[in-house]
Amino acid sequence: MLKIEKLFVAYGGIQALRGIDLEVPDGKIVTLIGANGAGKSTTLRTISGLVKAGSGSIQWNGKELLGQSIDKIVEQGIALSPEGRRVFADMTVLENLKIGAYLRKDKAQIEKDIQWIYELFPRLKERSWQLAGTLSGGEQQMLAVGRALMSRPRLLMLDEPSLGLAPLVVQDIFKIIQQINRQGMTVLLVEQNANMALKIADLAYVMETGRITLQGTGRELLANEKVKEAYLGKHAK
Ligand code: ATP
Repeated sequence: MLKIEKLFVAYGGIQALRGIDLEVPDGKIVTLIGANGAGKSTTLRTISGLVKAGSGSIQWNGKELLGQSIDKIVEQGIALSPEGRRVFADMTVLENLKIGAYLRKDKAQIEKDIQWIYELFPRLKERSWQLAGTLSGGEQQMLAVGRALMSRPRLLMLDEPSLGLAPLVVQDIFKIIQQINRQGMTVLLVEQNANMALKIADLAYVMETGRITLQGTGRELLANEKVKEAYLGKHAK
């Protein structure tokens, strides 16, 4: 279980997080939705140790994560698939996946996990020797998720996995997120596609300018008038 309490983060003078509280129970899909600049990416980056917090606490199974190094946080089972599919363009698909396992020493299991990723994403298997920079946007997104999975996380954090992708590819990615979750992995999902995210989420949080303004089950927020108006728009069904 991940538990965030009164988390404040600033970039220079800009307050990005203004005291957020958030819980991600084991085995669940939790989503964080909100407008651009609300602080969603900052939340994931702070959990990963990429951004330093001003104050507050982030407990992972009762242990404080703030102040720990990025590698230590990965070692404890938390992985981030960053926004913008940051894959290594000049490396092959397979090399990118292996980088995701850089902290692991269990070579035999790493091989098995590569096969597991190829089962989840058959497209990556077909293209294992292709340079990542030549993949389509959807394939690069799958690779970014696959690479994060290669650290064998217990908590997988996904930053806008659907950004810029065609609707059918988005559906594929969401199906795979649910599939991974059914295999026991906890998921913290940041999404601009609020409609899809709320449909698969057990729990959901709405962020506005650095604060959590609403929370509930995915179903509750899908039915919430404020959420409908602000985030679901005419696409809501
Ligand atoms: P988006 O979907 O656009 O990424 P977000 O909800 O993820 O939005 P953040 O990226 O976390 O929002 O940004 C929160 C606030 O912090 C914004 O005002 C943003 O401009 C600011 N910010 C983010 N990263 C930096 C940075 N590296 N330096 C300065 N300010 C930053």
